[in-house]
Amino acid sequence: MTSRAKRILITGGAGFLGSHLCEVLLRGGHEVICLDNFSTGHESNIAHLLGQPNFELVRHDVTEPIDREVDEIYNLACPASPEYYQTDPIRTMKISLLGAIHILELAQRRGAKVLQASTSEVYGDPDVHPQPETYRGLVNPVGPRACYNEGKRAVESLFMDYRRMYKLPVRIVRIFNTYGPGMHPFDGRVVSTFIRQALSDRAITIFGDGSQTRSFCFRDDLTDGLIRMMGTDREFPGPVNLGNPNEISMSDLAQTICRIVGPTENGQEPPIAYRPLPEDDPRRRCPDISLAKKTLGWEPTVSLEQGLRQTVDWFRSIDFETRRTGSMSEQSDSAGMLKWAGR
Ligand code: NAD
Repeated sequence: MTSRAKRILITGGAGFLGSHLCEVLLRGGHEVICLDNFSTGHESNIAHLLGQPNFELVRHDVTEPIDREVDEIYNLACPASPEYYQTDPIRTMKISLLGAIHILELAQRRGAKVLQASTSEVYGDPDVHPQPETYRGLVNPVGPRACYNEGKRAVESLFMDYRRMYKLPVRIVRIFNTYGPGMHPFDGRVVSTFIRQALSDRAITIFGDGSQTRSFCFRDDLTDGLIRMMGTDREFPGPVNLGNPNEISMSDLAQTICRIVGPTENGQEPPIAYRPLPEDDPRRRCPDISLAKKTLGWEPTVSLEQGLRQTVDWFRSIDFETRRTGSMSEQSDSAGMLKWAGR
């Protein structure tokens, strides 16, 4: 960890990745400001940090401007799963764009280093495998995922323009599928859905024929990559891919999770139910992490088996229903105060 303690703002700090980043940075001796509007994040993710002297929680919406004295900013605020970001696509685009503008303005005002959590979705449904950062992507700009992937692409462009125009020290990471303890049980993503279904003795739902592949990075590896990227020198803004390059088919993932969870009450494995593939669902996505290895000395260290065991243990320890998160239809009024839709 760094030698000097810093004051670090994490937007989306109550979310899956943000809350773990808060924890790790606090352990490193830093002062952490967690900013969140709790639209997809959950209080229980950060409840254990609330009493710590170096931790501050700010309820705020990034679509409204903010000013704070900070040394570093991790901009993670954005709904991350299709289930959430497609609920109100116009708001998703606003969160990406207005959020990035407010955070970049803050960084410029305070002379802070700023890291943007971008996504592998900037590559769309790629025709190059694995995807290096130089690949420009195959994105449908008018499809149902465009609110998210075009929003993130525009934010990458904004970050680079702040660097070119104002010499702002920016960092861009393209995060590939990440899983682990603290992920949303109801985010509609494959790992959380399979685990929840296997633990509830319900049929495992596979979209398509199950041959499509994905790669999954464990949360702790990803957090380490984010911190390394923030720590690099000014001349390397990225974008850099962070993800696990080991691919697995959806059928194999379902089997692995069923094996880890163990047999159902009647001693059988849960049945598999096949459903049609959603529109614009990528057939394959896998990071080329050569650049991260070379520039950050980073690569994943946690195997899928180890990571899934920890994740299943965490899922066993929680009550799913209390983890249903706030609604994406929550809106800020003109004063930036949140109006809560039913939790
Ligand atoms: P998450 O939904 O758990 O976290 C996002 C957090 O941002 C939540 O706590 C949410 O309440 C908060 N938020 C949303 N809108 C906000 C707003 N307008 N103002 C303030 N806070 C707001 O998702 P995550 O998986 O932790 O993802 C974090 C970031 O990483 C996101 O930017 C996402 O796009 C990116 N990412 C994640 C993955 C992944 O696999 N988890 C993959 C690619 C990119």
